[in-house]
Amino acid sequence: MATKRDYYDILGVDRNATPEEIKKAYRRTAIKYHPDKNPGDKEAEEKFKEAAEAYEVLSDPEKRARYDRYGHEGVNSSFSGGVTVEDIFSSFGSIFEDTIFGDFFGSRTGGSRSSRRKGTNLRIKLKLTLQEIAHGVEKKVKVRRQVACSSCNGTGAKNGVSFSNCYSCNGTGQVRKIVNTMLGQMVSTSTCPACGGEGKTINERCLSCAGNGTISEDEVITIKVPAGVEDGMQLQMNGKGNFPPRGGVPGDLLIVIEEEENPLFKREGIHLHYDLYVSFIDVALGTTLEVPTIDGKAKIEIAPGTQSGKVLRLKGKGIKELNGPNVGDQIIHVNVWTPQNLTKEEKALLEKLRHSPNFKPQPERSERGFFGRMKEYFS
Ligand SMILES: [Zn+2]
Ligand SMILES: [Zn+2]
Repeated sequence: MATKRDYYDILGVDRNATPEEIKKAYRRTAIKYHPDKNPGDKEAEEKFKEAAEAYEVLSDPEKRARYDRYGHEGVNSSFSGGVTVEDIFSSFGSIFEDTIFGDFFGSRTGGSRSSRRKGTNLRIKLKLTLQEIAHGVEKKVKVRRQVACSSCNGTGAKNGVSFSNCYSCNGTGQVRKIVNTMLGQMVSTSTCPACGGEGKTINERCLSCAGNGTISEDEVITIKVPAGVEDGMQLQMNGKGNFPPRGGVPGDLLIVIEEEENPLFKREGIHLHYDLYVSFIDVALGTTLEVPTIDGKAKIEIAPGTQSGKVLRLKGKGIKELNGPNVGDQIIHVNVWTPQNLTKEEKALLEKLRHSPNFKPQPERSERGFFGRMKEYFS
């Protein structure tokens, strides 16, 4: 088992530090290692817990005296082992209330939320063709969302004025109570149950929205889709989700990309693969062929003696990289087409060539076997 660090060292104070100095040192340490500031950082979380343990002992005169005399053996901190960050907030959160850090901790201990209430997010699917993805596109979509009611300005009260302060919390949205903790009496605040933290109650409801403060509305939203997005990716438009009831900021619109399958091209990141079928006469004699590209057509040269499986590249005819300067290629795979139906005449012509020495496969010369192709593709 690891040896425990000295409580004074943890908080960085002298052994004769005053209670005020200890409190200040704890605030400083706790804010430095606050889990909200260090998300996912296990070491910071341990330091945060360690500081809470040190503070619990050193802030209590009796425990501190025993610790000074007997060390760790002399005290039993309720924060050693198995404690959660939430436990620490519920015990110590309120000592920060009178400081500029009140808000910082307040967010964990349930302070006033009415000022920053956020509406729910909306999620839609957006189908895109490969062409749209290749260059980026602007799409207009109709979205049904909750917007602030214009009759009551989103308040839910008639004409936006027919409400009064909550009788229970006097408009603050919070109720305070004195609680006894291991640190003595402390003030605990929680959301007012009468008004749900809003601080006000409606006298007469707005008729347009039945007091909700929001109404459902169809809105045409223009979505700028950047080039290079992929199936399953999610775009986010801040503030284009639902407004919350009775005031606050709207949620976000989440757009999930659905990529339509393309009959001609197989996508691999920013590159596009294309299968080209060529007659063996064309590969034997060489020719110029027209191939489709993502945005039109291109001419390619087939050199005499081209083998099946040869890979040709059209530079820059792929997809633009998402948030980057690169553009992929169109990768053309040459497949030699073997005729399946032949007339008597065609058969006779080919029969004449059957035993010609040049028609005998000689792969060692061309190096166009499977491994040769792999080399070519990855070079
Ligand atoms: Zn209204
Ligand atoms: Zn209230």
